[in-house]
Amino acid sequence: MRLSDRALMLNPSPTMSIDAKAKAMKASGISVVGFGAGEPDFDTPDHIKHAAVAAIWSGMTKYTPVAGTNELKEAICSKFKVDQGLEYQPSQIVASAGAKHSLFNAIQVLVHAGDEVILPAPYWVSYLEQIKLAGAEAKIVETQEINGFKITPAELESVINQRTRLLILNTPGNPTGAVYSEAELRALGEVIVRHDITIISDEVYEKILYDGLRHVSIASISPDLKERTVVINAVSKAYAMTGWRIGYAAAPSSVASAMASLQSHSTSNPTSIAQAASVAALCGDQEPINRMVEEYTQRRNYMLERLLSIPGITCNRPGGAFYLFPNVKSYFKKTFKGSVINCATDLATVLLEETQVAVVPGVAFGNDSCLRLSYAVSMDNIREGMDRITTLMERIY
Ligand SMILES: *Cc1c(COP(=O)(O)O)cnc(C)c1O
Repeated sequence: MRLSDRALMLNPSPTMSIDAKAKAMKASGISVVGFGAGEPDFDTPDHIKHAAVAAIWSGMTKYTPVAGTNELKEAICSKFKVDQGLEYQPSQIVASAGAKHSLFNAIQVLVHAGDEVILPAPYWVSYLEQIKLAGAEAKIVETQEINGFKITPAELESVINQRTRLLILNTPGNPTGAVYSEAELRALGEVIVRHDITIISDEVYEKILYDGLRHVSIASISPDLKERTVVINAVSKAYAMTGWRIGYAAAPSSVASAMASLQSHSTSNPTSIAQAASVAALCGDQEPINRMVEEYTQRRNYMLERLLSIPGITCNRPGGAFYLFPNVKSYFKKTFKGSVINCATDLATVLLEETQVAVVPGVAFGNDSCLRLSYAVSMDNIREGMDRITTLMERIY
């Protein structure tokens, strides 16, 4: 059967293919240590699960308004107010089936064929495919490790032209853990307002922060920026609710209406039961987040120390999210068992095949000098995996 050009243009997710290989090895009884995970390993807190069960028994099992229940939209508005001092009306909120869904809807309603979307690399995989699906062109800007993998105002300005429509920002960032400070956002914001560009700000890791860092949304910097920004967030990462599929966008009214309208003809409302659970997540006890972040902190510290003790590896200290993004370039052109390692993907393959440790090659995120290692896995797994990696790297020369 003939496939559309749209379908043919899509690349399968490279994070999924190494994951599939790792899972197949696991299924055949091999002890694989998986650092590929893109989701919290914690269970959803009990009070959230109870809210979902109660929602089922109270009959919340029907369609809701497309953009979400009033309760959920109010809870999201109050979250923005409390966390960022951002004032949104419920009509400016669109709840969806996950941040990924909100990003898709936002990009679909904001860009048209021929538009350019500025995408700082390393980037989260789906942005690129979603830009292509909207018929637009990604203008990839390679950020520098010495700048903490954050785009600078000069880099941003240098790629802006007549066709530039949108910038996608992700803070705290996946895969690098980069966190933009208020001053950095203000400086970028100056360029953005001057050139009248729209921003999609993906803030799904806002609650997973270390070393006393504070999350700042670029929308909160000034009214000029707020009216140019679509903020994307979700309960997925903060509350260990990836399977529940609730995300949301906050946007200027015209954009929010367009997103809701698009959603009304595709998925309709996100699951009524998961919406009720998300109200409990946003309005209930926030202590579970602190416990998870405490645990992530210990894992990050340990894993980073182990990585940095391997000769030739450099790695930024992530300020947020739950990934390390070490640079392994000094191993390129060296050999393992007679084969030359040319890129991070070769190294990821050797790690999986020789020592059964699954990591994601950076090329998936637009950077083939680095690997992504997730520490949303138990400390025991981290110890075992880091032992294996350390031993293997000594055999490359
Ligand atoms: C996980 C992730 C998402 C998707 O979140 P969902 O709510 O599960 O759709 C979006 N952006 C980034 C950067 C992520 O890491």
